[in-house]
Amino acid sequence: MTKEDDKVIPVRVALRCRPLVPKEINEGCQCCLTFVPGEPQVVVGSDKAFTYDYVFDPTTEQEEVFNMAVSPLLSGLFKGYNATVLAYGQTGSGKTFSMGGTYTSAQENEPTVGVIPRVVRKIFQEKSKRMDSEFLLNVSYLEIYNEEILDLLCTSKDKPVLSIREDPKEGIKIVGLTEKAVLTAQEMVGCLEVGNSARTVGSTAMNAASSRSHAIFTISLEQRRGSEKHCDILSKLHLVDLAGSERQKKTKAEGDRLKEGISINRGLLSLGNVISALGDESKKGSFVPYRDSKLTRLLQDSLGGNSHTLMIACISPADSNIEETINTLRYADRAR
Ligand code: ADP
Ligand code: MG
Repeated sequence: MTKEDDKVIPVRVALRCRPLVPKEINEGCQCCLTFVPGEPQVVVGSDKAFTYDYVFDPTTEQEEVFNMAVSPLLSGLFKGYNATVLAYGQTGSGKTFSMGGTYTSAQENEPTVGVIPRVVRKIFQEKSKRMDSEFLLNVSYLEIYNEEILDLLCTSKDKPVLSIREDPKEGIKIVGLTEKAVLTAQEMVGCLEVGNSARTVGSTAMNAASSRSHAIFTISLEQRRGSEKHCDILSKLHLVDLAGSERQKKTKAEGDRLKEGISINRGLLSLGNVISALGDESKKGSFVPYRDSKLTRLLQDSLGGNSHTLMIACISPADSNIEETINTLRYADRAR
């Protein structure tokens, strides 16, 4: 453990470019990006270069993304630092793939398994190395859709809309949210699977609403040390599959559709403002606009301060997506 590891760098950015998908290949799309070997840099077209903390080219496997960018956050978690991993990008750029939002237990040992199941595995490994402590692990899984919070682990048919409360001791709390106490990694990924399918069912009914909602899988970790068992460390990790960042098309949308477009932009917009305020040394101590959206309010005690944030900015390599790709590269650039 070096000093560097202990230094809190509030926001790190990993750029991840997926391979061309069959549809893009069939349509004759070309890759419009160049990756500089050994450098965390991507070049768009022939001249525009962007540099991030990590750049993962299309050949990068899930395991490497996890080991390089996500795993370091977990050692902080065991020391009491909160952490947040956010997958950002246009619909179809690989957010859900990267996070593990389609995970089913049948894929348990596949190399394609994403961040969340890997995090779960690692947390239980780390826990078993620390026999001197007692651990309590809880999970919740929710979705923010149209600025409303929905419980993805709630089994009843009529899902109540939940509200946020600030608890002086425990920080941000969501009133009525299912928090499942889990003892094993299997139980924890079981919750992921249940929530993922709740999300999928919802999205067919609501016309791919999942691309317009933020999904947040939260693991809270409580540690009790020593014979007195009262030296508590409380920390939480949010794993977030954000809504698609694409600009809403200017259709004659009215009512619900219009409301949708606006509320999504609100979450991503205020997230951008919060993250850039956190990353900017010159703005230290200045106002951070957490209260502008449900998303940033909910993540308030896990973004900035003593927390670690990783943004995985997901992009497509296809020339047909270049406009949205540049938007994502810029958004991610602003976060650093
Ligand atoms: P999003 O959640 O951003 O809308 P998805 O995660 O659903 O995007 O990805 C879109 C498609 O691309 C899916 O078919 C997914 O399996 C595929 N894909 C995404 N990232 C990768 C990757 N790194 N390697 C291989 N396929 C990927
Ligand atoms: Mg998705």
